[in-house]
Amino acid sequence: MEKKNFSTWLDNMELNHPLVIAGPCSAESEEQVLEVAHALKNTDATVFRAGVWKPRTRPGAFEGQGGKALAWLQKVKQETGLLTAVEIGNAQHAKLALEFDIDILWIGARTTVNPFAVQEIAEAIQGTKKIVLVKNPINPDLALWIGAIERLHKCGVENLGAIHRGFSSFRKSKYRNIPNWQIPIDLKNKYPSLPIINDPSHICGEREGIFDVSQTALDLKLDGLMIETHCNPDEAWSDAKQQITPARLIEIMDTLRVRKPRFEEGEEAYNKLDALRKEINNLDHQLLETLAERMAVVENIGLAKKEGNVAILQNTRWQEILKKVVKEGKDQGLTKEFVENIFKAIHQESIAHQKKIINA
Ligand code: PEP
Ligand code: MN
Repeated sequence: MEKKNFSTWLDNMELNHPLVIAGPCSAESEEQVLEVAHALKNTDATVFRAGVWKPRTRPGAFEGQGGKALAWLQKVKQETGLLTAVEIGNAQHAKLALEFDIDILWIGARTTVNPFAVQEIAEAIQGTKKIVLVKNPINPDLALWIGAIERLHKCGVENLGAIHRGFSSFRKSKYRNIPNWQIPIDLKNKYPSLPIINDPSHICGEREGIFDVSQTALDLKLDGLMIETHCNPDEAWSDAKQQITPARLIEIMDTLRVRKPRFEEGEEAYNKLDALRKEINNLDHQLLETLAERMAVVENIGLAKKEGNVAILQNTRWQEILKKVVKEGKDQGLTKEFVENIFKAIHQESIAHQKKIINA
């Protein structure tokens, strides 16, 4: 898996880079599907998405039009030339999607979490040349995401990619699914040639944030966007709040900045960046030195505690430190969350050092 060059399908297909996949959350009727597809025909979107089987949180909501809607997607392809993409949730969906010659199959977030379901799908589409995209699992678990991709790869599915759609969280957030950008970045670092498409629609859960999330995705060099698009979003049968009109999609695409992957050496901006990076390296070095110095003092404190036979954790003192650093940090323009996270990590390491001394 490590050596595989995943990017070939994206390069070979002469699709736009970044790849733009657009279309409604759900295929509602033949008319609706064709209306959106025709509106997308001359935009940056080269792939048309529509959910045919919808994984709903509770029964009773609209669960998709099922297999018959695959014929509508075929019509989209004939009439507009757009490639088609559909979510598959089990082996039967997968087989039907192949029968209807759908170009891109994607595995939804609720399916990626289930290795049994992914394995069944992988076996059902063994050796397919179709493109298969794997959404991140609902929980922020990179290994589970990679595991799903590996299951497909082991079954001879080679044209693989990933979709970053954010992660569920109990924490209150402006996002429907928090982006946790470090996870797709870690995936990219592990498999540099695996295309990763960002799905701002399911991250935001509303229309307002879609531009910002898309721009961040492009700034982080993700390979494309999948954006839910509907001609009458307010009336959509699923995910009404987050769908945008084709006109808004065009506006967003016109405003997004696609930046160069890297500076050319010798460029003025490159020299500036190079100097700044040297400064950062120096500061990082100083940070580490200071931390090591702090740990040396901590070890002496450990010795004093051992002599006095007192407990390692002195909670009142720890609370005082935390309060003080949060205030000082705020004065220096650092957020409370950041300072707390850093000092909790430092405190944990300090306790480990003291434990070593006390138990020696
Ligand atoms: C979808 O793309 O419509 C969908 C159901 O997404 P997810 O699996 O990310 O929730
Ligand atoms: Mn949706």
